[in-house]
Amino acid sequence: MSLIKLLPDQLISQIAAGEVVERPASALKELLENSLDAGSSDIAVTLGQGGVKLLRVTDDGNGIPHGDLTLALTRHATSKIASLDDLESVASLGFRGEALASIASISRTSITSRHAEASHAWRIAADGGLLGDAAPAALDRGTIVEVQDIYFNTPARRKFLKTEQTEFGHCEEAFRRIALSRPDVGFMLQHNGRALMRLAPGEAKRRFTEVLGPDFSAEAFELDESAGGLRLWGMAAKPTFSRSARDTQYVYVNGRFVRDKLISHAIRQAYQDVLHHDRHPAFALFLELDPTLVDVNVHPSKTEVRFREGQAVHRFIFHALHKALATPVGLPANGLVP
Ligand code: ADP
Ligand code: MG
Repeated sequence: MSLIKLLPDQLISQIAAGEVVERPASALKELLENSLDAGSSDIAVTLGQGGVKLLRVTDDGNGIPHGDLTLALTRHATSKIASLDDLESVASLGFRGEALASIASISRTSITSRHAEASHAWRIAADGGLLGDAAPAALDRGTIVEVQDIYFNTPARRKFLKTEQTEFGHCEEAFRRIALSRPDVGFMLQHNGRALMRLAPGEAKRRFTEVLGPDFSAEAFELDESAGGLRLWGMAAKPTFSRSARDTQYVYVNGRFVRDKLISHAIRQAYQDVLHHDRHPAFALFLELDPTLVDVNVHPSKTEVRFREGQAVHRFIFHALHKALATPVGLPANGLVP
């Protein structure tokens, strides 16, 4: 007698989708990460009905070879790592090889892609995870991934969708997080046929201003501190620009947006003396360190990290920010008025 059954592949992907595709915005994040990993310099996002009806990401990256199209939609298939060593020093945003398979299993997904060395593009479609055959298609370069009718075949998930406006808000936030992390890449965001954001590639400061607003930029200082193999750079607002909500707090570790208690605590502590306890600081801060000293494989959504030397990271961030906050803003570091 046997009671235990191996689940069908499609069902495994649908179960995994619970973690990877919490809502349309999580799918958008995965698609944007794939475009960046493909070396794109220009990425366009088109949303329909808050991303529920349509999520389309168009990039000008390396593209996917014809022979890899099916694999791109297959679970645990990735071009980004091949060994445990690779995982320990992973530099790409993706590496789990499960996002596209998960997304495709709970939506109608198509990929049109032209690999840099191919004579033309190919398109493959998957309906609720059921893959069709690849067919020739027209596309000059790069990749278009189109995700329609998310959760159409998983009614239990569909019930958790909020209003179009709320889901759009989450998509917009996912877009901002990615756009802030790569000022050198051009981005475009369109919703229900309206162009909402057009970000030209350029300097980090300009990107911060465009994404976080001119008020933030006017009230924020730039910092760039390095010590012991760690670097912290970005912009943080003066205490006068404090917020009543944590709505302008962006932390990146090696280019990846993360939520990390240890980092938040260090930042909070640096602001402690200058900020009222019910106010929240505003910042976009980038921590860079040797990738072998941080584990990004903590959760499928990859927004959690674990540091090998947490205390050293905490101390470094606290001191870097504390020093910057103590420096009279608007004056050069030597204290002389220009
Ligand atoms: P992962 O990013 O973890 O490798 P995904 O499921 O997100 O897993 O993607 C699977 C594979 O499909 C990637 O490893 C990559 O080779 C390819 N791929 C996905 N999106 C793109 C894209 N926009 N451009 C080029 N290749 C892509
Ligand atoms: Mg990916």
